[in-house]
Order: sequence, then structure tokens, then C-alpha cells
Amino acid sequence: MYGKIKEHLATELANIKEAGLFKDERIITSPQGAEIELNTGQKVLNFCANNYLGLSNHPRLVEAAKRTLDSHGFGMSSVRFICGTQDIHKELEQKIAEFFGTEDTILYAAAFDANGGVFEPILTAEDAIISDSLNHASIIDGVRLCKAQRFRYQNADMEDLEVQLKKASETARFKIIVTDGVFSMDGNVAPMDKINELAKKYDAMIMVDECHSAGVVGKTGRGVTELFDIRGEVDIITGTLGKSFGGGIGGFTTGRKEIIEMLRQKSRPYLFSNSLIPAAVGAGIEMFNMMKETTELQDKLHANTDYFMEKMKNVGFDIKPSKSAICAVMLYDAKLSQDMAAKLLDEGIYVIGFYYPVVPKGLARIRVQLSAAHETEHLDKAITAFTKVGKELGVLK
Ligand SMILES: *Cc1c(COP(=O)(O)O)cnc(C)c1O
Repeated sequence: MYGKIKEHLATELANIKEAGLFKDERIITSPQGAEIELNTGQKVLNFCANNYLGLSNHPRLVEAAKRTLDSHGFGMSSVRFICGTQDIHKELEQKIAEFFGTEDTILYAAAFDANGGVFEPILTAEDAIISDSLNHASIIDGVRLCKAQRFRYQNADMEDLEVQLKKASETARFKIIVTDGVFSMDGNVAPMDKINELAKKYDAMIMVDECHSAGVVGKTGRGVTELFDIRGEVDIITGTLGKSFGGGIGGFTTGRKEIIEMLRQKSRPYLFSNSLIPAAVGAGIEMFNMMKETTELQDKLHANTDYFMEKMKNVGFDIKPSKSAICAVMLYDAKLSQDMAAKLLDEGIYVIGFYYPVVPKGLARIRVQLSAAHETEHLDKAITAFTKVGKELGVLK
């Protein structure tokens, strides 16, 4: 009997709409890229994709996916441990380990699954997870699925982390500090040098989620372990093939050999979910080959980010400092963030305004995501539009 809950859900949905929190999806009719076409026929410059290296529609990845469809078929119809492992799955796992300088890698359908399945196989109620307050939803879910004791520290706050580590040390057998590499709303980078010092002092392991940092931070895009020169000192790295690394689908956990081996034995999203499709794996292998050949894309992304942030600051916008490719243009007012995003879209610039509860109350902003796919003319067009709309709305003098 659907009757009663139908009404209940309709009321809840109406409440969400009334609160202005209903998520509408804009429909794109072109491939993902710097310039996209919407189903309204409007062409806009895209500044809200996680397409950091501009690889989402890269000819080499499209070609590799097609080639792998021919050589390895469409689907695996199996989980990895029954008959879902092809030579290319093992090859991609090795390429990822090589890229991050780790011992071994395990693939998942998505990073959401990697984070969901990483804690429970290695930690018990005797152990402790010390997690940053702004960690991604999938980490929070992963922690919930595990019986380990939970400690939370304020975002990137090293004094609080130390307090929590002291507390955890009273009861825990093993401890692990867990953090995003780059936090998606401010674009701030986790202070890995300090985290590493504290991990040593309190005998804790470290796990970093590199979803927004891999491909982006560090001189060659190897992520936060490169930026802070601590390669080999982080025990677990999780990441996605859905952002910098081609924007398709797939997640991974890479790190210490014994941990990865245990995940293959016990991690539920790995054991009980289908194998990654060959086309995605083939494109992933090609992508890591490209990363080995040149750092052109990373260099372009870094240059674009520096250029955009510098100019936006110069025209008078309040920009959160960051070393990532996320540029938070602070507006503070929720309605203003929505009005500004709407007006920017009219100018052909696609960005999203975020406000409470996605970001703290009174800290509404527009998030701009830079990409190696952007040309200087794209950046200039965005800066011009921001300046025009900023003046119209009284954000700029
Ligand atoms: C995007 C993201 C994920 C999820 O990645 P998927 O592969 O899309 O599931 C996990 N963690 C962080 C920090 C992310 O930004």
C-alpha cells in the first residue's frame, strides 16, 4: 500500500522546495568540456565541473575506451573475485600505485565505495578513527559502517587534532587520522606536514582522500603527498577516476600492501559489487600513460588557476586563499549567491552558488572550478562577466 507514504513524501518534497533547497538538474546536450551546450540551446562556459585536467572528452581517452570495448568487451557480469578480473584491471591497479608511489591498489566502482569499504575490514571497536569535520559524505558513511571509536576534529585544526589524538590514545589499540586532501567548498588543502608530525608523535596511521587533490596539487599533480613531500608516509590513499583522471567512473584505494590485501578479502563494496567496465579501465590506463609522458596539463591548470585568482582579487573580489583549482568567491549572503549565479549564466558563465547547509550559515559563495581545458580567453570572459554582474549587484564598487 503506497497510499499514506505518497502523501508524506509529497509534503516533504514541497517543504524542500519551499526552503529553496530543491536540487534541479540542468540538462547538457554536448560532451563535458570548457564550453558546453544546454538543452535550451544556450552555449555556456563551464566553471563547475571537476574536469580539472580537461580530460573528460579527451580524444586519447575516448579512443582508448573504444579500443578496449573491442578488445575486452562491454561488461564483466561478475565481481572481481569470481570471474571479474581481467589483465587490464591488474594493469590499472599497478599504474595507480606507480603514480602515487604506493605498494598496491584495489579498484572500486566509485570512490564512494572505496571510502565506504575501507575502515570496517581493518579496524574494530578496539581502534579509533580521528576524522576531519569537513570530510566527504562517503568517509562519514564508511566510518558509520565500522565499529571503531569515533573522534572528530575541526576542519584542518591541528590543535584540535592533537586533543583528539590524546583522547583516542587512552583507549585505542590502533589509530588512524582521516582527511580529504582538498576540501571541496573552500578549496583549502589539508596541512599534511603537521598531520604527519602528529601521526608520528601519537603513533597513528594516515588516510587521505585525494579525490579533489590528485591530478591537481603538487608540481606534477601527484596530490598532497607530493605537495608536502611525504610520499610513502601516508598509509592509505583513496581517489576517483571521476574527477581529474578522465571524469568517467571508478574509484580506488592505494597504499600499504597488507591493507590492500585485506580489503580484497573483506571490503564489502569490492566483494559484492560488479567489476569496473573494461572501457573505463582502458581509458584509465591511457590516462596514467599520459600523466607519465608530460605534465603539460597540470602546468596549464596551475597557470590558469593563478591567473584567474590573481585577476579576481585585483578587481576586488573576496577570494578564499587556496592551493587547489577551487576558487571560492565569497558573497556571504545566500540570496545574493543565487542571484549572482543566475546573472552569470545569462552572461554565458556556468557556476554554482552554495549556501547553508552545504556551507556554514553566512558563508555563501560562488565556487569556480578551474580546468586545463580553459583557454585564457575563457578565463577573461568569466572575469569580465563576474566584474559586470558584481557591479550590478553591488558586490564590487
Ligand atoms: C567526489 C568525491 C568522492 C566520490 O567520488 P566518486 O568516484 O564520484 O564516488 C569521494 N570523496 C571526495 C572527497 C570527493 O570529492
